Order: sequence, then structure tokens, then C-alpha cells
Amino acid sequence: MEFDLDWITQEERQELERNVFLGTLEQVKAWARSNSLWPLTFGLACCAIEMMGTGASHYDLDRFGVMFRTSPRQADVMIVSGTVTKKMGPLLRRLYDQMPEPKWVIAMGSCATAGGPYVKSYAVIKGVDQIVPVDVYIPGCPPSPAALIYGINKLQHKIRYEAKTGKQVT
Ligand code: SF4
Repeated sequence: MEFDLDWITQEERQELERNVFLGTLEQVKAWARSNSLWPLTFGLACCAIEMMGTGASHYDLDRFGVMFRTSPRQADVMIVSGTVTKKMGPLLRRLYDQMPEPKWVIAMGSCATAGGPYVKSYAVIKGVDQIVPVDVYIPGCPPSPAALIYGINKLQHKIRYEAKTGKQVT
């Protein structure tokens, strides 16, 4: 950001630019939210094992401020990790509805994204976006922990970008 201050020296101006951060309240809120994402603890199938591995000590999601919560009322991110059956769909939607606003959804793996290997099954929903709005899709069967971390980083960027520009990224 350029400061319109002609009464200070060049060195003072550079010092000011290095040390003063200006932003809107929405940007500060988005910065805080994006660095303290709390996903709901629940998994649906094999992708959930990768999600658990990502949360464990080796990959350590805590370093991004990502802490799994066991209640939807304390969570703001739903990581849909696994196959969504037609029987599970309404329950997944209920959990989503119990999460407070603002909230986000990550579709982890090809099952949650589009039905995966079970796309021709009569019992599987072909994409969780038919039940809840999805913010980030992560491809793979299953996606690696690194891919999940990348997806979470993308969600963080999206939250901050939307607050900065006021535009909704779909
Ligand atoms: S995408 Fe693959 S690994 Fe993930 S739940 Fe479906 S079948 Fe399992």
C-alpha cells in the first residue's frame, strides 16, 4: 500500500510500510477465521483414514489452526471424506444445518466429488454438492494428506479473497 505522506523521509516511509498493516474489519475477520478452521469430526469411508492421518502427528494439521471438533455446533468446516450413500445424505445435511454460519465444505476424494468408483451404484449420491454447497473439491482415490492440506490452504485463500474483494467465488 502507498502512503500519501510527503512530510516524512524515504527511510521513515519504508519503515512504516514494513510495520503497519491496513485492512478492513472484514479482512481481519477473514484472516482470523481462515487461520482457525475447525472441521467437524466425521468420516464416511476410506478417505477418512487419510483425513485422520493428516490430522495426526506426522502431518500435524494443528499448525494451520485446524482443530477437529466433535460437535457440529463448534465446527465451521465439513470435510466430506468418503462415499455418500442415499441413506446417509439426509443425516449429512442435518449435521451441516447444525453448523453455525459462516461455514464451508470440502469434498475430499472422487466419491464425495462425483460418486467415485460407485458412480453407477443405485445407493450412492453422485456428488455431495447435490446436498450441501461445496467450496473446494480435492481429486483422488484417496487423496494424499498433502492433497488435503493443499485443499485446506485453497479454502483459506478463498475466505481471505472473498473478504478482500467482496466477490463470492463459486
Ligand atoms: S474416493 Fe476412493 S478412497 Fe475415497 S472413499 Fe471413495 S473409494 Fe474410498
